[in-house]
Amino acid sequence: MAKVNTNFDNLVPSYLFAEIAKRVTDFTKENPDKPVIRLGIGDVTLPLAPIVIDAMKKGCDELGNKETFKGYPDYEGYLFAREAVANYYKSFGVEVDADEILINDGAKSDAGNITDIFSQDNIVLVPDPVYPVYVDTNIMGGRKIVYVNGTEENGFNPEPDSSVHADLIYLCSPNNPTGAAMNKSQLKAWVDYAIANNAIIFYDSAYEAFIEDPDIPRSIFAIEGARKCAIEMCSLSKTAGFTGTRCGYTVIPKELEMDGKNIYKLWYRRQSTKFNGVSYPVQCGLAAVFSEEGLKQIQENLSYYKENAKIIAKTLDELGISYTGGINSPYIWLKCPNGMGSWEFFDYLLNNVYVVGTPGEGFGEMGKGWFRLTAFGSRENTIEAMERFKKLLGK
Ligand code: PLP
Repeated sequence: MAKVNTNFDNLVPSYLFAEIAKRVTDFTKENPDKPVIRLGIGDVTLPLAPIVIDAMKKGCDELGNKETFKGYPDYEGYLFAREAVANYYKSFGVEVDADEILINDGAKSDAGNITDIFSQDNIVLVPDPVYPVYVDTNIMGGRKIVYVNGTEENGFNPEPDSSVHADLIYLCSPNNPTGAAMNKSQLKAWVDYAIANNAIIFYDSAYEAFIEDPDIPRSIFAIEGARKCAIEMCSLSKTAGFTGTRCGYTVIPKELEMDGKNIYKLWYRRQSTKFNGVSYPVQCGLAAVFSEEGLKQIQENLSYYKENAKIIAKTLDELGISYTGGINSPYIWLKCPNGMGSWEFFDYLLNNVYVVGTPGEGFGEMGKGWFRLTAFGSRENTIEAMERFKKLLGK
């Protein structure tokens, strides 16, 4: 008999977004005249930049021509795409070599697959609350997970505890769901902890393009020592609206070794076995994003979302509601007012002002009593939702 991976039995059913959808559907069925605003959305809503569309069309035309046709791409991505990423890093003062970059179909794949090259008996450290992929992929792999708690007191930037050992560490900054971003000294503490534990940090920088504060690093490789202990995963999903186009990149320093093995070489072996690369037109789109004109064009969308985030943050300031994020992040993580639970606040908002957000407990135990709003809605809806907040929650 074929045996299945029984580690899957240990996964917590992922009912969060299904439950949100059900409650909203039930509400709109009973109240068809009530204008619901969704600020729980974690997907972008603005279209791709014109320069990206042109580059992808040109890439398609080349595939349609015998002289310029291309077959399988390089596993690690075309050199022109990797050089574009390396130049982007240089623009914020971080040196990584094009040969240390691997182009992929988005950060989720690499964040989920990277454990392929690590043994089952590693101890995994994950902050709570957290992007669920880190936890679920390690439950699937049967690894032991230890948590570090994000709290109101530590601003949802938990510090390493030197009395707890870990081998694999997941960090995400600016964070989904909390919007909290680590400054240089906070990140340095994690790098030092990783080196002391002979551990590897998987650093998810999917939201780095939202960083405005110069003391918040755009890359873990801005931190001394990181090349000895870190892998960075990033994506064009939120940077340039590629959630449907699918493209990202992972950076592995060539000298990174663990357990006597070169990590880049192991990962390359894994990718060349299980992954056949990213399509040529999409890699042309990536290179266009990181061109001088591309960076200008994507700023328009980023500024739009950042302004939405500020509108939400300003409203919470006025209402005296605690939150993290809102600057350096498209997420705003707020403490449910009047001691309400996450789902209680969800229903309270939906029933009274028809605004939908995401209950924090869907991201871990420490998310109980917290709530995520996002800046990916339209300006009009964001302003209207905040007016409704003021009416409902103003003193
Ligand atoms: N990492 C984090 C922290 C995310 O929030 C997301 C998407 O929401 C991803 C990775 C996945 O991004 P991609 O679309 O590049 O797979």
